[in-house]
Amino acid sequence: MMPDDEVLAYYRDAGKIASKVLKKGASLIRAGSRVLDVVECIEQMAGENSAGLAFPLNLSFNEDAAHDTASPDEQRIFSEGDVVKLDLGIHLEGYIADTALTVDLGDHGLLLEASIAALEKAIEIVRPGVTSGALGAAIQGEIEARGFRPITNLTGHGLARYSIHTPPNIPNISFPGGAKLEEGMVFAIEPFASTGSGRVSEKSRVEIFQQTAVKPVRLHSARKVLDSVRDRRGMPFARRWIEDGKQDIALASLINQGIVRSYPVLSDIPGSLVSQHEHTIIVTSDGCIVTTA
Ligand code: MN
Ligand code: MN
Repeated sequence: MMPDDEVLAYYRDAGKIASKVLKKGASLIRAGSRVLDVVECIEQMAGENSAGLAFPLNLSFNEDAAHDTASPDEQRIFSEGDVVKLDLGIHLEGYIADTALTVDLGDHGLLLEASIAALEKAIEIVRPGVTSGALGAAIQGEIEARGFRPITNLTGHGLARYSIHTPPNIPNISFPGGAKLEEGMVFAIEPFASTGSGRVSEKSRVEIFQQTAVKPVRLHSARKVLDSVRDRRGMPFARRWIEDGKQDIALASLINQGIVRSYPVLSDIPGSLVSQHEHTIIVTSDGCIVTTA
């Protein structure tokens, strides 16, 4: 069933804002610019549109596929040759638009083309009755035809109010069966193309966290962290957003108690390059609406 008109309008408006902010943000990325400036500028632009961030802006370099963002004391600068993924989540009243693109500061046009073509092909075949596995096959086909590997252990995902990861998963490789798409489903499709192994693993760097449970805590600094992220309603937050010298001890304690989870940076093998493109779509009776187009 399609969402009602009010909800549909939130999804469409969130998608328009996300698309506009992401494109403006991409234009800020040049060799020599500071990562922290770009991240803060994009997150601020999102806020100016009276929308909220569904998660911290993900800005991931080269072999890093996802889940990086600026640290509180970020010093990195963009360099010639970098392949930079920008992944933005905007919400209006909890209705989320999740969209990503890749900026090429080198000569990696073919790598970017692979994830663009994969995303377009998957969107083209979306309609009720098609399986998520068929979308994965389309994505894999486009990426491999260009001589790259899809990242097999990252997927697209359903979206629900204030919730970024719900069923169905949309695989980036061919998959027997999978969820049957239905009219009204809202999900993100996000192919990743890689020059590396096609699998990501966790790095030690962690900048993004999420509260997953509500429990009483004794540690003062941990209570302060929970107070500062209460208005997130369970959506992820950045270490950078917490203004507290004891944030790292507090976060470690909250993770230990099963109240907060971390999202380590996810990377393919050192020296590889990864591109990503993502849109949020709503399945209609004969195709889909791309909210973030
Ligand atoms: Mn995303
Ligand atoms: Mn996503």
